[in-house]
Amino acid sequence: MKKIGIYALVVLAITIILPTVIVKAFNFVPREEQEIGVVEEYVEPKIQEKKTTVKLGKKVDKLKVYNSHTKKTEEMYLEDYVKGVVAAEMPAEFQIEALKAQAVAARTYAVYRSLKYPEGHPDHPKAPICNGVHCQAYLSLEELEDIHGSSWAEKYWGKIEEAVDSTKDLGIFYDGEIIEPLYHSTSGGWTEDAREVFALSLPYLKSVPSPNEEEAPRFKSITTMTIDDFIGKIKSAYPKVNISEENIHEKIKLIDKTMTGRVKKVSIDGIVVEGRDLRDIFELNSTSFVITLDKELNLIEIETHGYGHGVGMSQWGANSMAKNGSNYEEILKHYYTGVEIRGMN
Ligand SMILES: [Zn+2]
Repeated sequence: MKKIGIYALVVLAITIILPTVIVKAFNFVPREEQEIGVVEEYVEPKIQEKKTTVKLGKKVDKLKVYNSHTKKTEEMYLEDYVKGVVAAEMPAEFQIEALKAQAVAARTYAVYRSLKYPEGHPDHPKAPICNGVHCQAYLSLEELEDIHGSSWAEKYWGKIEEAVDSTKDLGIFYDGEIIEPLYHSTSGGWTEDAREVFALSLPYLKSVPSPNEEEAPRFKSITTMTIDDFIGKIKSAYPKVNISEENIHEKIKLIDKTMTGRVKKVSIDGIVVEGRDLRDIFELNSTSFVITLDKELNLIEIETHGYGHGVGMSQWGANSMAKNGSNYEEILKHYYTGVEIRGMN
């Protein structure tokens, strides 16, 4: 582990964990206090320097979209598809410049996938992209009216069209090639470097500040459960661990956090568990969480910040930037490091 990481943990131990230990009975135990040898089996994943951008090839103005509900593949015009993605992925109440940033990111993502998987994505071999969160959510106007009511289209469809039409054909490039513009709902304050989440070092997906997201509904969430429920969930995922109400405070240890404070690795009775696996087990909004045990009340509290993987553009951060006067280009250049925005066809 990098020296700076150890330093960060020492600082963390002094500034955050110690007061928590005093106030409540237990928090993650910092690495310095762990038994030696506990994490010896863990092999750090290799960071791949794999190139993920794609060269612009043939013009993409139509694309095949796999509908994960009907299991059918539909062909649509790119610009029509982008409208359905913007409306599905971002609240239409958002600022127009945030919606435009979303339109450019959604279009770039679709073109990227189409050029990267022209014969179909391995997970849906008939099409390079699907209509679910596996790729990016898409809803038809009919589906949007079913969800939001018939007056929604009257009120907002014009705004969605404006966001897409006014940025027609624009895409995001790094070093002359189309990027994979990942985005998420709420960063919680800082976006995450792609290497921390996907073990991929990508020059355009670096950690950047994303302030003023407090309005986001999932900026901060608290999940509370009994210690028994907590142990039950851990044991259903890792049946071999020996944890109980009596020893839980010694058996769960924080091994590593990312530089933005997201949980990378935790040791549970000597088994190394990824932060994102704990996120799945407890259905947390993100890997930016703190677990606190209150033995007197027999409760575990998990406080989570942000929503999503944290990589690339934060949608709530984008809306906040737009409110403060940034245009869509400034928003995209803030969240995607070193990129340029230009026409794709
Ligand atoms: Zn998909």
